[in-house]
Amino acid sequence: MNLEHVDILGVPFVHATRSQFVDQLHHHINAEQKAFVITANPEIVMKANEEPSYMKVVEQATYVTADGIGVVKAAKLLNKPLPERVAGYDVMMDLLHLADQHQHRVYLLGARQETLEKAERNIRKQFPQLKIVGAHNGFFDWKSRHIQQEIAERQPDLIFVALGVPRQENWIAENIHQFDKGVFVGVGGSIDVIAGTVKRAPEVWQRMNLEWFYRLLKQPSRFGRMMALPRFAFKILAQKARS
Ligand code: UDP
Repeated sequence: MNLEHVDILGVPFVHATRSQFVDQLHHHINAEQKAFVITANPEIVMKANEEPSYMKVVEQATYVTADGIGVVKAAKLLNKPLPERVAGYDVMMDLLHLADQHQHRVYLLGARQETLEKAERNIRKQFPQLKIVGAHNGFFDWKSRHIQQEIAERQPDLIFVALGVPRQENWIAENIHQFDKGVFVGVGGSIDVIAGTVKRAPEVWQRMNLEWFYRLLKQPSRFGRMMALPRFAFKILAQKARS
């Protein structure tokens, strides 16, 4: 199925609900058709706008989802609304559930070793039958071929890449062509959330669209990165004014 796109500052966001999008990835898995998924927030949109080399990577993605209420709000303001937020963590959990039901093979790449092991234990607790065919922490020698060889041998259907922005997108863009199949999803801090080392905002905060603020309170070191948000808002408002 061909999904529509909505262009936000040059980044093509997929026009789909979370469940339509997960269905779409399921089609890819069943057809053994590769996919590169970026779950993008305003920070990623700004990075792509400010760094042409990162925009080139974003352009290689099969799908970019709106991971961040800022993107959904911007789309609405520009009169090209997106149906809802499609966050990386939620997509990952839905795909793990799907993989458990359909015996799809899963590979986890990213986070610190201890966090990764904790996350793996928690995933196995929740999905005892799930086939995790491999896992590697996110602190490796970029030049080593070990991870690529492991993925090629173990043939996972789903590869969750949690190396942070922009490493995860760069890694996927650089390596996806070597594999015959696989849906590769950049999932940021999701392995930390599954491990319980980072807490996601409580539901009420999420419903009030304040997850970004909760993250800022919990990890004040993100303040510098979050300065992308007002720059994003300014660019969107300027575009709105021009149209
Ligand atoms: N990470 C990693 N390798 C690195 C740098 C970071 O595996 O070289 C992991 C980090 O441990 C964390 C994840 O990447 O589990 C996401 O980091 P961050 O919270 O910065 O994600 P972002 O907000 O960039 O998506």
